[in-house]
Parts: sequence; structure tokens; C-alpha cells
Amino acid sequence: MYEKILVANRGEIAVRIIRACKELNIKTVAVYSEADANSMHAQMADEAICIGRSPASESYLMIERMISAAEITDVDAIHPGYGFLSESAHFADICEKCNIRFIGPSPRAMRALEDKAVSRVLAKKAGVPAPPGSEGLVETEQEALATARRVGYPVMIKAIAGGGGRGMRTAHNDISLVKGFHTARTEEEKAFGNSGVYIEKYIENPHHIEFQILGDTKGNIIHLGERDCSIQRRHQKIVEETPSPLIEYKYKDLRKKMGKAAIKIAEAANYTNAGTVEFIVDEHANFYFLEVNKRIQVEHPITEEVTGVDLVKQQILIAMGEPLKIGDVTFKGHAIECRINAEDPFDDFRPSPGRIEMYYPPGGRGVRVDSHAYAGYTISPYYDSMIGKLVTYGKDRREAMTIMIRALSEFMITGIKTTIPFEQAILQDPNFARGVYSTNFVDQLLNSGRRGLIEDKA
Ligand code: ADP
Ligand code: ADP
Ligand code: MG
Repeated sequence: MYEKILVANRGEIAVRIIRACKELNIKTVAVYSEADANSMHAQMADEAICIGRSPASESYLMIERMISAAEITDVDAIHPGYGFLSESAHFADICEKCNIRFIGPSPRAMRALEDKAVSRVLAKKAGVPAPPGSEGLVETEQEALATARRVGYPVMIKAIAGGGGRGMRTAHNDISLVKGFHTARTEEEKAFGNSGVYIEKYIENPHHIEFQILGDTKGNIIHLGERDCSIQRRHQKIVEETPSPLIEYKYKDLRKKMGKAAIKIAEAANYTNAGTVEFIVDEHANFYFLEVNKRIQVEHPITEEVTGVDLVKQQILIAMGEPLKIGDVTFKGHAIECRINAEDPFDDFRPSPGRIEMYYPPGGRGVRVDSHAYAGYTISPYYDSMIGKLVTYGKDRREAMTIMIRALSEFMITGIKTTIPFEQAILQDPNFARGVYSTNFVDQLLNSGRRGLIEDKA
């Protein structure tokens, strides 16, 4: 058993990991930046070390400081959380070389799925379709035009190193394609230090459905069902649920087919630890591989609620070399997650950092809040604006929704703007209530007359 783990992250996920360690009787080391000196994760851990200044590039992204902190505190392993260094094969390599276990997939598996272009090739080899598009990187304007004309407009120009909804552009004709191609290459170089782009067909009225994977070091790989993450703004998820209404109500046999495809991709990469295989599904139940997120995901709690499996504990046990002992995964009930972001939903989701005056999270049956926020805590402008997750569980979708509506109305955060009023409008939308929605849902809601309704509430 590990004695001590360093948590190389901040915010709610650092708190989530520390909680799992406490239950496993493992000591924890938190690292924090200057801006996070008073943050919850630094206070909850057994030890805390300041690793640098507020910008992530001067703290949470600095590999040598993480390793020094781990060596000084003599930890057995590092949990990277999500974002920051979590998907860096280079960081995983350095951890292993320093004899510190990296809690995640092996560097080899990470490299096999390193970027989106490489992953597309791997999926194809595994016999899983990706959206029609370029074979690999697109280097010239001519190549871009030829690809787009071959697959047909609209298309997406995607940065191979993109993530978190960034580095994606839609083009509807030759003119916007050429323009998008050139701006993509310059902007991606600036944003990700990598100008590589590829082109794929834009799937219309798409559903984002993903599968949770767990693989141990003995070669066993299982999936733990799907999550529907089609409720997105700017290609970033804000509400997620499991099971997916599209699968549950309309295309029941998709679960088996997509679950098999997800496992095939994980097997082709010799995947270990927790991961997520993301797909896009069209209106006719055709599904296409998008990418593998090689880490724990923000929305993992909804899977935990319906399967009863603690995914973070599983990550730690797998990294220690334990075989999977879950047996047949069973699914019970329905879970929904709302991401609570410090953003103004009526001003284009502009970040709203500042001091939280009052903080009163909801409680009661079927409610789980994963958050690092508290009254008096100041949300820093340096990091992601997500300040917590509200998860509800019910025996069926209707009950999970009823509890969510009740819990959102109880959630009191003053001093800053949050996405709560917008999520109330989503939960009250008749199409959401029927479970009929695609990734166009948020735009449709914003453009509909119901916009007035949510502003009144706010
Ligand atoms: P999930 O599917 O778990 O929601 P996201 O893609 O939204 O994953 O990313 C999770 C976290 O990681 C977010 O905080 C996001 O801002 C951050 N993130 C993901 N990819 C990148 C990237 N390439 N650059 C910077 N931040 C990223
Ligand atoms: P990220 O790394 O930012 O998570 P993804 O490739 O996973 O990027 O895509 C994020 C979101 O963008 C998807 O959930 C979906 O809403 C949209 N998207 C991506 N590719 C396509 C596509 N080919 N057609 C339609 N929508 C897409
Ligand atoms: Mg994605």
C-alpha cells in the first residue's frame, strides 16, 4: 500500500483526490501557487508546499518543481488530476525515472494516444470509425481544400494539441476554410506551441457520448457505461448525465456496440488506469471516435453514482499493481451533473472572479457537491472558472431531475456571478425534460424566447 501521495493539481479535483486518499489511509501532500495559499486543498492535505507564482506556467505546469516537492516529501506516487500535467507523457516518464509512480496510463499508452491525429489512426486500426477527414496532418491550403471537398462541407479544422473546447473551427465553404486554416495554424502555434491541424467532417445535430474505461496492469479492460455530455457551450460541457437519454430511449443497442468499440481502442493502446473514450453520434445512430482523455474526467462522479465504483480509488489501486476486482459492473438509477462555474451566463459566460461572500451548498437526499469553495474564498482569475460540481442521483431520470431542480434552487453563492441560473433554465426546458437534445441545445436555448425567462430569474 502507498504511504503518501502528492497531488499535482488544485481546486475541486485536488480535494476529491485527498478525500479518496484519506479513506484509503494514505497521507497526502498538496502543492499550491501563491494565489492558492488559502485554498481548500492546501488546508486539507497532511503537508502543503508552495511551488511558485500564480500563473500555472510558473507553478502547476513546472515539472522540476513538482518532482522536487515529491522528493523532499518522500512520496510513493503522484496523482495528476485533470488538466495541467495530467496528459503529459513526458511528465509520466520523468516520474517513473525518479522512481515515483505516476497515477495514470503508462507513458507508452499515452504516446499511442498522444494527439488527436495519432489517435484517429489508432482507432481506424482498431476498426472503429472516426469522422471522415484527412489521413494525418494537413500542411497546405491545397490539401485542406481537397480534403474538405472530398468529405463535403461543413468541416472542422482541429488543432491536434487542442483541448478544453479550444483549437476548433467550423468551415462551411472554401472561403471560410482557407481563412480558418491559416488563422488556425498561427493561433495554435501560439496557444499550444504546436501548429499541427487536421480536418474532419462536421457531424450535424451531434450528440457527445463517452465511455468510462478502467484497465489494470494485468491486461483486463472494462467499461463502466456512458455519459451524455451534449449540453455544451463553446464545445465545453456544462451539464452531463448517465445513462444517455439517446441510448436509453431511442437506440438501446448502441450501448453494447459503443462500449465494445471503446474497449477495442483501449486494447489497441495497451491502456491502463482510468480513461474516457469520446464519441460523436449522429441522428441515425452512427457513431464516430473523437479522442481519448487519458486521465480522470471532470464528470466522473455521475458514473460513480450509478455504478457504486469509486473511480479515484480504483486509479490508485491500479497504479499500485492491484488487479481489477469489480466483477460485473451493474448500473442502477440515473445521475446528473451541473458544473458550477464562476461566469456570467448573460455576458457570454465571461469569467467572474472575486470574493465569495456567502456560500451555502444544497444537501439532502440524492445530492453530492464536489467543490473547493467556501464563504470568504477568493476565486483567482488565473485558473479555470469551475468552482464546483453539483451531482444528483435518483432511481430514474425524472427523480434525478426533480432533485437537481430543488438543489439548484437551494445553492446560494453571493459576491460573484455563477452559471446556476442558466442551469435552472436548462433543467426547466421542455426538450431537456423529454431527453431530446443535441450539442446545439445551448445555442437554441439562448436564441429562443426563453432567454428572457432566465434573465428574470437572475
Ligand atoms: P472534461 O472532458 O474532463 O471536461 P475538458 O476537456 O473540459 O475535460 O478539460 C478538463 C480540464 O482541463 C479543464 O479545466 C480544461 O480547462 C483543462 N484543459 C484540457 N485540455 C487543455 C489544454 N490543451 N490546455 C489547457 N487546458 C486544458
Ligand atoms: P476537446 O479536446 O476540446 O475536448 P473534442 O474533439 O473532444 O475536443 O471535441 C469537443 C466538442 O466539439 C465535442 O464534444 C463536440 O461537441 C464538438 N465536435 C468535435 N468534433 C466534432 C465533429 N466532427 N462534428 C461535430 N461536432 C464536433
Ligand atoms: Mg474532448
